[in-house]
This record gives sequence, structure tokens and C-alpha cells, in this order.
Amino acid sequence: MSDVPAAGILYLVPTPIGNLEDLTFRAVAVFKTVDLVAAEDTRTTRKLFTHFGIRRPLTALHDHTSAARVEKLVEELVSGRSVALVSEAGTPGLSDPGYPLIRQAIAAGISVVPLPGACAAVTALTASGLPLTEFHFAGFLPVKDGARRRRLQELAMLPGTLILYESPRRMAAALTTIAEVMAAREVCIARELTKLHEEFIRGPATELAAREAGRQWRGEITILIAGAAGVPRTAAEAADVDELVRGELAALRAARPDLSTRDLVAALKPRFPSLDRRRLYDLVLREGGSPG
Ligand code: SAM
Repeated sequence: MSDVPAAGILYLVPTPIGNLEDLTFRAVAVFKTVDLVAAEDTRTTRKLFTHFGIRRPLTALHDHTSAARVEKLVEELVSGRSVALVSEAGTPGLSDPGYPLIRQAIAAGISVVPLPGACAAVTALTASGLPLTEFHFAGFLPVKDGARRRRLQELAMLPGTLILYESPRRMAAALTTIAEVMAAREVCIARELTKLHEEFIRGPATELAAREAGRQWRGEITILIAGAAGVPRTAAEAADVDELVRGELAALRAARPDLSTRDLVAALKPRFPSLDRRRLYDLVLREGGSPG
């Protein structure tokens, strides 16, 4: 390929997230040109290279790689050697190792050339059916219940479609918390993208959590959640927002009949950050308040 310079460049090369045919022609060309490939998991990358008939020296670069090792790689780049950075799958650096190398290469004046390619977040987003105009990638949620709930409450205030990665082991807990915090929001679970058992599960959070309760989650999972509504600009929009609050309230009550009026207002607030507490309180009371 004529547009592939020979040396002193750090290439960021996405690799398939399941289907090997998603490796691009340009990625293969870059691999065949660089002096060294820095890989999160050299065994996985070696298998990929064997499939495509690529032979290039590999070096490990994972989360536990020392700062000294990263510096050494930057020195190699400065001295004119070209390096391709790859993670185990998808786009390097994105919930994957690589960021310190990218930062330091830029600081050292190295050209950093990103290749477009496989990425679970964007692949899932495009088929989610949720708005594509604005989105927020938040990676993995915290593992502990309390921290996960607090993080989701923060994220619930953002207007764009939310994209999360989750492990199958923690999927049931994550879904329960999502249903609690974002009851009526549309959710899409994208599982095993680009693979044989690719699956999309869509629906409002509480409904989806109830439908999938007890499921043994397997495979790789990306979760997408509709962004926060409720930033009214006109009277008509304000009326629509009341409608949205009523919807969320009904879903919340169905999921958590034990919540008091005060709890209901507290749970609604992060979903409607632009509405003041008084207005939410009035709305909850008008809709029957709660026995609490
Ligand atoms: N850097 C990668 C990328 O660009 O997509 C992501 C790496 S992160 C360590 C791995 C997580 O991405 C998985 O736990 C899962 O949440 C998501 N993921 C990766 N492959 C996937 C797939 N085929 N289908 C759905 N989600 C996937």
C-alpha cells in the first residue's frame, strides 16, 4: 500500500472482535511493514498472524507493563522504528491497554496513526436502535453494588446514548441496578457481535430485566441505554417531560413498590436533572404519592 510510511510511526490497529474477516486490508499491510508489534496478548495476536500469513516480531504490552518498558518502546519509535499497537480484540486503548504508550509517543513528537476498524462499542451502537446523534462510552461499571449504583446515577444524567461493557458474570447484577436506576429507559443488549450467536435484546429496562431474570449470561456483552430525557425548551416539551416522568414513575413503582415519596423523588432526580425537586415532588404527589 502506497500510503503506509516505513518507520518512526506508532500505528493503532484494531483487530477483529469475533469474525476474523473484519481485519482490514490496510491493517494487514501495516502489520507487514512495521518493525515491531506491541500486543496485549501475544498468543492471540500470533494466532491472528498465522491465519493471515503475517510474520512480525511481537512484544507484550499489557496493563501490568512497566513504565520503563513503555519508555523503551518510545525510544524505539524515536530512533526510527515503526510499531503497531494491538489489543486482544477491537480497538487498542479502548477499555484495553495502550493509553500510556499513546500519550508518551505524542509527547515525544511521534506520529500516531490510527486505523479504523473493529470496536464493540460502535458496532453495537449502530444496530441498537437508540439515538446515534450523541453517545457516551463509559467502559465497565464498578463491580461493587453501591459503587455501581452511584456510577449509574451519575451517568443517568447524560443526554446521549450510554454505552457500557459488561462481563457475563456480572450481567445479572448490572441489569438489576440498571432497572432500578433507569426504569423506563430503552435498553439494548448486544451479545456476541460478529459471531455465530450474535444477539440483540431490546426493551425498557424494567421489562427487559424481568424477562431475562435467571438467565445464565454467556459470551461478550455490550449494553446500550437511552440517554436522559427532560431538558424542556418549550411549553409543549415541558408537557412531554411530565409524561416522561409519569412513565418513569409507573415503572419505578412496579419495580419497587416499597419506595416512599421521598425515595421516588430521589430516584427520579438523576433521570431528569433539569427538573427541580419541588416539581418532581408535586408530580409524584399528583400521581398518588406513596404509602411511605
Ligand atoms: N477494545 C475493545 C473494543 O474496541 O471493543 C474492547 C475491549 S474490552 C476489554 C472487552 C469488552 O468489550 C467485553 O467484555 C465486552 O463487554 C465488549 N465486547 C468485546 N467483543 C464483543 C462482542 N463480540 N460482542 C459484544 N461485546 C463485545
